[in-house]
Amino acid sequence: MCSSHRVALLAEIRAVPFQCYYCEKKTQVGNTVARRGLPKKVGGIGLKTTGIRRRTFKPNLQKVHAIIDGKYTRVLVCTRCIKAGRVIKQLKQKKPVAAA
Ligand SMILES: [Zn+2]
Repeated sequence: MCSSHRVALLAEIRAVPFQCYYCEKKTQVGNTVARRGLPKKVGGIGLKTTGIRRRTFKPNLQKVHAIIDGKYTRVLVCTRCIKAGRVIKQLKQKKPVAAA
C-alpha cells in the first residue's frame, strides 16, 4: 500500500467531530481560577488567586435521527438547536389498528 492510499483510507475512517451539526458549536477551553480568602464585599481582606488551571467547556450534544439531504441520518446536535426546532425529525408511522 502506497502512502497516498493510506492517507486516503485514514481520511475515510476519521471519527465524527464532537461538534453540533447545525451551529458548529464545539469544545472550548478556558481557565479555572482557584481563590482563597474572604471577598471584600463580605467584609474580608480580599480574594487571592492561588492557582489557574486550564479546563474545557463541552456543549450539550445529543445523538438524534434527522433528515439531512432527504436521508435519515444520525447526527450530533446541541440541545439549543433541538429546542429551537432546527432538527427535522423522522416522521412517525401510525401503527395499524387491529380490526376486531
Ligand atoms: Zn447547535
